[in-house]
Parts: sequence; structure tokens; C-alpha cells
Amino acid sequence: MTPGPDQVIACPNCGALEQHGTLVAGNTGRRVSWSDLKVVSPFLRQPPKFVICHACHSCYWLADAPGVGLMPGPFNDPADWPRVNPAWRMAPVVAEPEEAQYYAFLSADLPDDRDQQFHLRMLAFQRRNDSFRSDLTIDDPKPDPVTGEAILSGDAHANVSSLLGLMDPNDSQLLFLSAELHRALGEFDIARDLFQRTTALPDLKVWASKLATLSEKQIATVRKLT
Ligand SMILES: [Zn+2]
Repeated sequence: MTPGPDQVIACPNCGALEQHGTLVAGNTGRRVSWSDLKVVSPFLRQPPKFVICHACHSCYWLADAPGVGLMPGPFNDPADWPRVNPAWRMAPVVAEPEEAQYYAFLSADLPDDRDQQFHLRMLAFQRRNDSFRSDLTIDDPKPDPVTGEAILSGDAHANVSSLLGLMDPNDSQLLFLSAELHRALGEFDIARDLFQRTTALPDLKVWASKLATLSEKQIATVRKLT
């Protein structure tokens, strides 16, 4: 992976400066895909798409933040960048909202656009799952922890219910995701049936078959696919 210069941006709400790395070149080595469709590529690191301002705590799409300037990244020679504003160096690195911050934003500032709603609710679902990610794969039938909150409840449950409401139940491309959302809700019979109907792609079919088995065992937590 070859990092590029660091990008400085301004919060669209208050103008506070933040920064994130850029990438000149990367690859998908050691990529991990998860059953909730999150993909982590350590050699293709990207900043979060949706972030929370450290100063005013408003949330925004990183793509909507105006760029302020570039400064040397870890692979750049600072001698080649003589005119970097000192305030830029002090700017914190952009951060994704915590799970509760997603729900607060969705409650107060729900976008009118359905695609944005869908995207945000997916990010909130994946954020919620972050605390449940482990080395367990879809081949591992280890039961969920008895004391944990493996099955969604409260705001997390409401978020995924709303997410399902945004999806076309007849769209075969969404069957896998729909099944996974029902599994997370603890609706295991529905999840199993939807996974068994997922036949779109060969890889997906194999994963879906294994997740159908986990559904039968009433396992709700997110699993590694690869
Ligand atoms: Zn701000």
C-alpha cells in the first residue's frame, strides 16, 4: 500500500479542520468480508464515508466536506512541502460516528433521499456489529454468548426494521442482505428461508447455505465470510 498526501477538510457545519489519509496505490490482500456485507481491506484503507465533527459533533458525508489543502503524508518528504499551515497539522483525523451517534442523527436529521437513508442505516447496522466481530467464521457453529445482546433490540432493532422497510422484497439481489437482517433480528425461520432462496451467485450461494445453518441454530451474530 502506498499512501499519498494527507487531505485537510473543513466541517460543512462549523468549519473545524479535520484530516484523512489518501491512497496512491493499494491492493485487496488480506481482505476480510463479513456476513453483514462489511469489507475490510488493510492494504486499501479508506477514510469513513460518514463522519462526526470533533468540534460541533454534527455528522456529515465526507464527500460533502470542502477540501482545504494537502499536506505531506507518511511517504512524502516534508522538505517538498514548505508552505503547510501549522493549523492543518493539528487537525484531528476524521472519525466515524459511534453506534448511538448514528441513531441520534437518524432520529434528528433523517435524509429525504431513500438511497441515503438506506446507506446510513446500513452503516449504523455495521457499526453496531463492530463490537461483535471476532475470528468466528460462517463454518463455526459456536452459540452466541448467553449474557450478550446478540439479537438486536431497542434502537438497533428499530434501525434494521426500517432498513428492511426500504428494501424491495421482490429484489432477488437483496435476498442475502434481507436474510442477514432477519437473522440479526432473531427472526431465524425467516432468515433460513431467505438464505435458502439465495441463488444469485455461486459464492453467495455457498455462504447463504452456511448462514441458513447458523439460522437454524439460532445464531444471530455477525460472522466472517472469508
Ligand atoms: Zn463541525
